[in-house]
Amino acid sequence: MLILLVEDDRALAEGLKTALKREGFTLNHVVNGKLAIEAIKTATPDIVVLDLGLPDIDGLEVLKNVRSMAEVLPVLILTARDTLEDKVTGLNSGADDYLLKPFEIPELLARLHVLERRLGTTNTAAICIGDIALDITRHEVFLADQPVELPRKEYMLLKALMENAGRIQTRERLLSKLYSWGEETASNSLEVHIHHLRKKLGSGFIKTVHGVGYLVKKP
Ligand code: CA
Repeated sequence: MLILLVEDDRALAEGLKTALKREGFTLNHVVNGKLAIEAIKTATPDIVVLDLGLPDIDGLEVLKNVRSMAEVLPVLILTARDTLEDKVTGLNSGADDYLLKPFEIPELLARLHVLERRLGTTNTAAICIGDIALDITRHEVFLADQPVELPRKEYMLLKALMENAGRIQTRERLLSKLYSWGEETASNSLEVHIHHLRKKLGSGFIKTVHGVGYLVKKP
């Protein structure tokens, strides 16, 4: 799950980065509205976490722009403006949720998981395909009811494939879900993670679509 965080408060952004990565989200961070609009055009995040008080364009303008580009992209607004009027404006402008600063990080995480489920890729807290089960709330994977230990990137990769079962996932799409901008990656890192997953889950579960990417078949 790729989150775009639009927040000019760098201390808050650093704290959120750590918490969201620990939770298994991939995070790209921008510090103003102009960069946010560019980022949405180029990297298509799954969810946008948008601060309203930005140094250049007002967050609500950014939100309107987002809606003109992507109608279904979930947007969670962060703001210190705590008047009812601002809340209504935010929601009327097409925000999916609203969190007032200061907030507790577990609350943000809980709301992101709600948006994630609402995306339709994940209707339940668990995805089961064949004898492999992925528990999204607990970050656990089971093979024939036996727990399988997966490092974070392997878990995220498996989740991206299982959430989109039946649809080919391109290498670019998968890499964008695993790595933030500027994060060091070896050219074969995706193949290495796939190799490890196949060793742990059986070789037939993840299919290679040559020259394109990977696929997990629908149950
Ligand atoms: Ca701000």
